[in-house]
Amino acid sequence: MPDLWELSVEETAARVRRREVSASEVLESCLARTAQVEPLIGAYLEIFEGESRVRAAEIDRRIAAGEDVGPLAGVPVALKDNLSVEGRAVTCGSRILAGYVSPYTATAVERLLDAGAVPVGRANMDEFAMGSSCENSAFQKTRNPWDLATVPGGSSGGPAAAVAAGSVPLSFGSDTGGSIRQPAALCGVVGVKPTYGRVSRYGLVAFASSLDQIGPFARTVRDAALGLQVIAGADPNDATAATEPVADYLEGIEEGVAGLRIGVIREIDPSRLGGDVAANWRASLDRLTHLGAELVELSVPSVEAAIAVYYVIATSEASANLARFDGVRYGRRSPEADNLADLYFESRSEGFGPEVKRRIMLGTFALSSGYYEAYYGRARGVLERMRHELGAAFRAADLLATPTTPSAAFRLGEKVDDPLAMYLSDVFTTPANLTGLPGIAVPSGTDADGLPLSLQILGRPFDEAGMFRAARAFEREMGWVVAPGFRGAEKV
Ligand code: GLN
Repeated sequence: MPDLWELSVEETAARVRRREVSASEVLESCLARTAQVEPLIGAYLEIFEGESRVRAAEIDRRIAAGEDVGPLAGVPVALKDNLSVEGRAVTCGSRILAGYVSPYTATAVERLLDAGAVPVGRANMDEFAMGSSCENSAFQKTRNPWDLATVPGGSSGGPAAAVAAGSVPLSFGSDTGGSIRQPAALCGVVGVKPTYGRVSRYGLVAFASSLDQIGPFARTVRDAALGLQVIAGADPNDATAATEPVADYLEGIEEGVAGLRIGVIREIDPSRLGGDVAANWRASLDRLTHLGAELVELSVPSVEAAIAVYYVIATSEASANLARFDGVRYGRRSPEADNLADLYFESRSEGFGPEVKRRIMLGTFALSSGYYEAYYGRARGVLERMRHELGAAFRAADLLATPTTPSAAFRLGEKVDDPLAMYLSDVFTTPANLTGLPGIAVPSGTDADGLPLSLQILGRPFDEAGMFRAARAFEREMGWVVAPGFRGAEKV
């Protein structure tokens, strides 16, 4: 008999709804597992121990009274710490939000609560979601459960590590340039960046508003699909949330990929990747062919500019979005200042970490008069070309496949002094954000060191169902089980 924390999201909710097990028992199992692994990985900034127990007990009471509590009945979930929950701190991994308490709840979180989920804590992240290793958190470093000397990826390192370690079966993060898919890849779990607009951003602290999307992490494709199902859909509080109907993601998910055309982008050249990544990528393509998919080679030249374009657009938007953290309206206020200009200067100097400052400066520069056309304007031009080229690619193919990341998990400290090397972690994930496409990261095996590698599948806008179906076929063929070894720990 597996422990309750090992059950899938689907199984957990089904058993809780049938009253074979209580939400409280599931929660206790997850809290016990968390107590065991958390000292090793540091995935959480706060665990809602008391409140989650109260909520699980309430769900059990409602079920006992014959109420339908929803498709995530009793499922413990972790939330990246940029998702607002009324009455709770939300720090975005930053000191600048010290003391801030959220006055409202994010739509995605509201929907999780309506579906019967039990939030268990605020998970660690790179400050303001800027980073690829979780090392930019102002509070703590999160470690990768596969090897404690390596990073979990970022910026949603906490939610990814929590799921990989078995603390929760489902967690939620945000993806602006790869922040769900890249940590999912490094932690050997499934991560989904939905189509832009599929999920309301209301209550997600903004990084780059035209790129940000909330999405799930889970141990299996089906569980990730269920997680997205619950949070997807229109929202009157977010004008960019699409009114497109939400498909039933589980309905055709087992149908396989036979006959589907999967595009492979010529400009993503595996020989440029590390040896294991290239070999794993070729093996993934063989698997897809074996499953009956037809591989189509395509040219999308603009993807080579994706990182450059992303770092102009994302930093420009961030410099505007982060202007609100001025020491007056939210969180931290410097005690040093004696006039308004100093108050802004001191509060921001003390409150923001070095990477956030770098991004604000880059973005302010890219938007400044005399440079706007040369940087921001030009980046928008390349982005339009990328949209056009990817649109054409999706006429020749139903889905696209790429590796998710250019390497497996790297060592803590390895890239902290080399921002460009860190930025390149997202070389394959940024095109989906820039063009709004949905993407999923699905485990594709391990490298010679036993660390996870990952396949990325991109779909047409709002074709999450097609993307899930292909990822599920691939996962079944892989027979992947998320079982990190906590290398470097005494015993787990
Ligand atoms: N790693 C990328 C960055 O640092 C992407 C971050 C994200 O998706 N939030 O900007």
